[in-house]
Amino acid sequence: MKPEALLFPTPAGLYCPVGDFYVDPVRPVDRALITHGHSDHARSGHGRVLATRQTLDIMALRYGVDFAGSEQAIDFGETIHLNGVEIGFHPAGHVLGSAQIAIEHAGVRIVVSGDYKRRPDATCTAFVPVPCDVFITEATFGLPVFHHPDPALEIGKLLASLEQFPQRSHLIGAYALGKAQRVISLIRQGGYDKPIYIHGALAKLCDYYSSQGIELGELRPATIENGGASQFEGAVVIGPPSAFNDRWARRFNDPLAIFASGWMMVRQRAKQRGVELPLVISDHCDWPELIETIGELKPGAIWVTHGREEALVRWCELNGIAAKPLHLVGYEDEGD
Ligand SMILES: [Zn+2]
Repeated sequence: MKPEALLFPTPAGLYCPVGDFYVDPVRPVDRALITHGHSDHARSGHGRVLATRQTLDIMALRYGVDFAGSEQAIDFGETIHLNGVEIGFHPAGHVLGSAQIAIEHAGVRIVVSGDYKRRPDATCTAFVPVPCDVFITEATFGLPVFHHPDPALEIGKLLASLEQFPQRSHLIGAYALGKAQRVISLIRQGGYDKPIYIHGALAKLCDYYSSQGIELGELRPATIENGGASQFEGAVVIGPPSAFNDRWARRFNDPLAIFASGWMMVRQRAKQRGVELPLVISDHCDWPELIETIGELKPGAIWVTHGREEALVRWCELNGIAAKPLHLVGYEDEGD
């Protein structure tokens, strides 16, 4: 069987006709396999959803318990069959519960990596390379210019700023699923043990991460009711990026605007957002990690999606690896 017949792009997303399922569909479908809980990959309204327990829990937290007609959990390394197609989920190292999905039939194995990274991350299970004939890779940071620094060094900048400006509230913008908890975890690893204040939009997911054994330390709600603005002097406050444009952000005295994202490597993006202290912390592969992963897996072909498809396709071709862009639409990662 040709890989192109086992899995191909449709307007609803990647479709496997033999198994009759979609991977991370962008429209409601009868059967969906979901790589991870970010809203561009995990949508509500499907008939049946197959995902890791943690991804299903995260979908229920975000969309309500009736997010799908029915759900089925699969463990890492477990194998199930759908109409004769063998399915396996393997850690992707992107956010809690994130998985690569291996799809195998008639001697062909395709791995859909979803979003993934190779850097150590205490908040989720590390990426596992899965041998395959076709590796579908994201290319969010798929340009040679993207080299992400060590996140511990980035957190060091935050800790230095807290010492230098002990009166100012340090307001960190971080996406609600994955980035916020990873930033908190990194701050704890950096030795900071005071309470960290969080916006209400982060509470449910932070509670869930804690319930799964991820150490976040003491978190307090960043509400003004009990104590006034002075309680946030010199404090670390984390909120979703959207909260920085509304009244919530204006309650803090002399706030220092910080944003944690892989995109903070691009000075212009930091400037546009009025970010005083950009922290380059990414939950995606940078260019060297993409190249390293392809070199390690040595698949028969690479299919590229989400982001800078052409540059990575060109690199593969120059290095003798068959590659093509998938041109999937509807994926704007919420957790870069
Ligand atoms: Zn994602």
